[in-house]
Amino acid sequence: MGYVRNFDAVVVGAGNAGLSAAVRLQLSGIRTLLVEKNAVPGGYATSFVRGRFEIDPSMHELCDVGPEEDPGGVRKLLTGYGVGLKWHRVPTCYRIISTYSDGAPMDVTMPTGEQEFLDAVEAAVPGSREASERFMGLMRQVSEALGGSPMNGGLAPLAELRERYSDLLHTGGYTVDEVFDACDMPPRCRDIYSAYWGYLGVDTGRLSFLHYASMLYLYITKGPYIPDHTSHTLVTAMEQRFRALGGTVLYGTRAERFLFDADGGLCGVRTTAGDVGCHFAIANINPEMVYGTMVPPELVPEREKKLATLHQGRICGRMYGAYFCLNRSAQELGLSDHCVFLSGTADTRAEYERIMSGWEQDDYAFFICYNVTDPAFSPEGTCVCSFTTFCRPEDWEDLAGAAYEARKNALAERFLGLFLEKTGIDLRPYVEEVVIASPWTFARYAGAPEGSAYGYATADWDGVVARTMGLEQEFRLPGLYTVGAAGPRGVGYNSNMTTGQTVAELAMRREQARGLLTDLKQAAGDLVTDIRETASDAGVTLKALRADAGDVAKSVTEAIGGAVESLAENLTEAVETVIQGEAHQDA
Ligand SMILES: Cc1cc2nc3c(=O)[nH]c(=O)nc-3n(C[C@H](O)[C@H](O)[C@H](O)COP(=O)(O)OP(=O)(O)OC[C@H]3O[C@@H](n4cnc5c(N)ncnc54)[C@H](O)[C@@H]3O)c2cc1C
Repeated sequence: MGYVRNFDAVVVGAGNAGLSAAVRLQLSGIRTLLVEKNAVPGGYATSFVRGRFEIDPSMHELCDVGPEEDPGGVRKLLTGYGVGLKWHRVPTCYRIISTYSDGAPMDVTMPTGEQEFLDAVEAAVPGSREASERFMGLMRQVSEALGGSPMNGGLAPLAELRERYSDLLHTGGYTVDEVFDACDMPPRCRDIYSAYWGYLGVDTGRLSFLHYASMLYLYITKGPYIPDHTSHTLVTAMEQRFRALGGTVLYGTRAERFLFDADGGLCGVRTTAGDVGCHFAIANINPEMVYGTMVPPELVPEREKKLATLHQGRICGRMYGAYFCLNRSAQELGLSDHCVFLSGTADTRAEYERIMSGWEQDDYAFFICYNVTDPAFSPEGTCVCSFTTFCRPEDWEDLAGAAYEARKNALAERFLGLFLEKTGIDLRPYVEEVVIASPWTFARYAGAPEGSAYGYATADWDGVVARTMGLEQEFRLPGLYTVGAAGPRGVGYNSNMTTGQTVAELAMRREQARGLLTDLKQAAGDLVTDIRETASDAGVTLKALRADAGDVAKSVTEAIGGAVESLAENLTEAVETVIQGEAHQDA
């Protein structure tokens, strides 16, 4: 096969997961090519410019960064990679303006810090402290047992889990709501603790407690963070590190197919810039697209075919985002919260069902004002805000032209109205630039099915715990691996950076084993050839031996024959002499 170039590994897609995997491989000296269809790195983690503003389309806040003196998983991972970055700590966890599930109005602001959070819950729901502490204690234990973010450090041995983290085992199979029940959490208390459900896109009736608890506890104890400027700073820093380590990047290049040798092992990637030879590839692409369009159908493993069927209807987190650049500072506008969850009800199941019943009912949005955390996020005297909500694919499917624009604008108007109604702040007179992204914007840009930023719903049989524990069973085609939001740790910047690292390490381990196997096969092949050659030499010798043996036998026979003949002659002579002698005596 003619390749334009050869590498040890190819990483397809420079999203958070792909970049992390690429840096990790290159750190181990694996010669890696990173192929990205867009002109810049990052996928959803990117930025774009309108007028005098730079806008971040996806980052609200990051989990698991932590302060320098108590670093979280993301900070540790980046330090390990040799990537330095300036971070801003978001001052509070969140504000929720909604309705408690019992129908009463709700407006609470939750601080960071375990005790501060418990105090704020008690102030909002007097008498709830005992239950609240019980719930917090469980979250603490889960977080410690899991080594921070979901499965960061892997699980401790079972004996240690039993002894030190028995509640992890007790809560492992339950949903958030079931653990609320077990802790006798008052309904309003649950409403407060549930607010981050939207960051995972699954209501607390289906969401795994372990998954949610490990995220919420990290936000509470380590605080949310944003990188200086936009998420583009983060991905550019990773990309530069990758290059500094000797990695190669091809932008504006789409990977079209994965190539396999006669034994079914990956041997290259077909891209719009030509075929590239490699020993293995990591795709930062949804597995359904990988196995559905980029792998020869006859090689697609049964497991992937079954998963494709099971995942139907489980695509999660199709986003709509409206970004407003305002010509007043956050302070002038009275904006003092980085993150506000706006919803009709804090009952997560009811809210999820309302969103999924159609865009006309959608009253759920995350509001973000970046300048509250980083006053220099936009030019002096201005600020940048965004509203984000979820969508059903049906809401956008058949729209085109003016109807599509009208739907985008109608939702933006609705959220500005909702914000005015809930906070009394009217942003409309100050809008200098506005940009709106629908799920199709995200689908076109990042290439994810239905414009999903979250992959598959991490619920029931497909929760993060099951996925992470089954990681070793994934990747059935030798040399082909997938990472990203549809992967083992689900949605989020931190999850995907960790996934990139974990899968790169798993790939290196497996490829080493595969390399050893190849070496063994080669050695076995060489041995068989040697034996054949030796056998054929032996054949020649045997032939010669046979010929010699024939000659010897012949000469032996001849010799024996000669001897027998002369013996016979001698005997005859002797007999004749004896007869003649006897006759002479008789005479
Ligand atoms: C509006 C919004 C708000 C969000 N807020 C947050 C938040 O506050 N905190 C948080 O942690 N997460 C947030 N997220 C989620 C987060 O952005 C994603 O989970 C994460 O960025 C996904 O990363 P990924 O590694 O899966 O890669 P993606 O971002 O999906 O990148 C995949 C990359 O692969 C490239 N690619 C795809 N196919 C090919 C191909 N065939 N050839 C070459 N290149 C290809 C794409 O161009 C893209 O660059 C948000 C997402 C959205 C949309």
